[in-house]
Amino acid sequence: MENRLKAIISGFTNYAFPSKEIETVALQRAAICATCPLAVTTMMKQLLPDDSIKKIEGLKCSECGCFLSAKVRQAYESCPKKKW
Ligand code: SF4
Repeated sequence: MENRLKAIISGFTNYAFPSKEIETVALQRAAICATCPLAVTTMMKQLLPDDSIKKIEGLKCSECGCFLSAKVRQAYESCPKKKW
């Protein structure tokens, strides 16, 4: 399976069923994304709530097009700008 697809499936699975390990890494990445000018607001806040990482709730990376709540919770792809 292509890495991109694995990243999407894994990211959304980990978003839906959080584990402590994944959330620890996700929090560190989210802190970086939250201050990145490439993180943009979307209309997805209600559809994709992120109660454990509010700072990236509903945000998307405009560089790779990924929803950050899933992007920070997978291990197949890194930040397209190499910030994490
Ligand atoms: S993944 Fe990288 S480029 Fe995208 S919003 Fe996060 S820090 Fe910025």
